[in-house]
Amino acid sequence: MIKHLGVVGAGTMGAGIAQVAALSNIDVALYDINGTLLRQALERIKADFKRGIEKGKLTQEQTTEAFSRIHPRTRLSDLSHAEIILEAAIEDLRIKKDLFKHLESDTKPSTLLASNTSSLSITAIASATQIPERVIGMHFFNPAPIMKLVEVVQGQKTSQDAVQRAIDLARHFGKTPVVVKDTPGFIVNRVARPFYGEALRLLGENVASVEEIDRIVKVEGGFAMGPFELMDHIGLDVNLSATQSMYDQFFGEPRYRPHPIQKRMVESGMLGKKSGQGFYKYAEEK
Ligand code: NAD
Repeated sequence: MIKHLGVVGAGTMGAGIAQVAALSNIDVALYDINGTLLRQALERIKADFKRGIEKGKLTQEQTTEAFSRIHPRTRLSDLSHAEIILEAAIEDLRIKKDLFKHLESDTKPSTLLASNTSSLSITAIASATQIPERVIGMHFFNPAPIMKLVEVVQGQKTSQDAVQRAIDLARHFGKTPVVVKDTPGFIVNRVARPFYGEALRLLGENVASVEEIDRIVKVEGGFAMGPFELMDHIGLDVNLSATQSMYDQFFGEPRYRPHPIQKRMVESGMLGKKSGQGFYKYAEEK
């Protein structure tokens, strides 16, 4: 297995992936453009390790060792020694393409470049590079330390060798990799879009309240979380970006049209758990 992983973006997903890798005995260089967010990510990882110890799932020794394997980095070029780089920056095609262009010039041709994008085209991201064969999607789910599924997304030119390396890494992490085609939103986010979209439309038409819709879906539908709880958990900005990108990639298909309620909430900074307020109010960031 690889020894060094680079992670780009230390937000919800990047920090979670770094945590999983460090617990799997891999050294992680964790980079973010924002130094404050990078420090906060380390604090979150520490707090999560502490909870793991309290719950008896992890030992002090395990977490101390894992934490020492995570190295905060403030320059993208500090990731050049990694055998695989996992990008988990914001869901913006222009930013991801720019990052991949730089990552390619900073790394050896054998370095696997993976994106954790929720919805964007891997083929489009790869088009910014000279060797699109080594660009792949590895779509982890939130929270990364807990969720088992990883969608391994094969772009138009992604090589079979890259697919195998992504599968091997996901398995090494104790995850379940599933190879999917490079279509907007892949499988899970495509299936999930009506879950959020129809819930927002019901709310917009005053058919039922946030609490009622969540309760019905959970109690009667057997879902672990209602659509509004889940949007708060994911981050309303992240969820909106995924919907917007799918809407655009399907050439304005009405089924995927984003809802103004969510847009207004994002504009006002109501992003869900991470901002303390979304559809629900939160005492502190969870
Ligand atoms: P987030 O907003 O929590 O974190 C994004 C991080 O990227 C921030 O720390 C930001 O400073 C950093 N960033 C922005 N521009 C950057 C750049 N140029 N270079 C380096 N870092 C940069 O977002 P997130 O929820 O962690 O999502 C990250 C990616 O993972 C997105 O592509 C998203 O679609 C995907 N994803 C999110 C979820 C989820 O539930 N939140 C699940 C699966 C996949």
